[in-house]
Amino acid sequence: MADVASVPRVLRVAHLYPELLNLYGDSGNILVLRSRMAWRGIGCEVREVHVGERPSFSDVDIAFIGGGSDREERIVCDKLLAERAELCSFVEDGGVLAAVCGGYQLLGDSYLMGDERVGGLGLVDLYTDRGTPRLIGNIAVESRISPQPIVGYENHGGRTHLGPGVEPLGRVLYGHGNDGQTGWEGCLYKNVMGTYVHGPLLPKNPGVADHLIRRALERKYGASELDPLDDEEELAANKVMFDRLMAGEVKER
Ligand code: GLN
Repeated sequence: MADVASVPRVLRVAHLYPELLNLYGDSGNILVLRSRMAWRGIGCEVREVHVGERPSFSDVDIAFIGGGSDREERIVCDKLLAERAELCSFVEDGGVLAAVCGGYQLLGDSYLMGDERVGGLGLVDLYTDRGTPRLIGNIAVESRISPQPIVGYENHGGRTHLGPGVEPLGRVLYGHGNDGQTGWEGCLYKNVMGTYVHGPLLPKNPGVADHLIRRALERKYGASELDPLDDEEELAANKVMFDRLMAGEVKER
């Protein structure tokens, strides 16, 4: 019988429209996924989907969408609406989808662009309206998917409201999150994670990166162990920022 541990494991990552949605270094998240897989001997094939190309999700394990301006968000929304049925099957089948800020807003039923309500992908029961001022600054979030608080940066005019069956990614410890009022940040639905956290998100939050990798491995290969990594530098970067925020040492503009 084949030794399960010796079966080569390979995950395919689709990075959707990096030339449009890549605010605050969101593409760095892909580097982190790739590195953390390579360090564990897990193959990682990254496919960038560019404007003019049609994404296919049939052999994708992890899909990633970054954030960006309202204009770029709208272009990406139009592109993905054409693939909505396939994307919906991917999500319902447990495909891993991580989306940041503008990408997160697209997952819902609708969002506001100026005064215009734009139909979203309807993958998760949430919607986004707008408010003033923009919610800008550092953010820290407590989440069940990460052993450390999630730290990063947010900048959005949108206010996102979750439907009753949708779990938030976590609770805001510092900053604004989904709407600046409820104290909730992001969403979790099946293997979808939406969040307002840029930074980029994954370099300082290795627990989030491993959550995505673990879920993708489980879906593809069944129960999968993740070898521990030496995260001393990542965790130090996380801690120094979290401690500074909670001590009130960071001046937000
Ligand atoms: N354009 C959206 C907003 O302002 C998303 C911004 C972003 O991705 N940072 O709400």
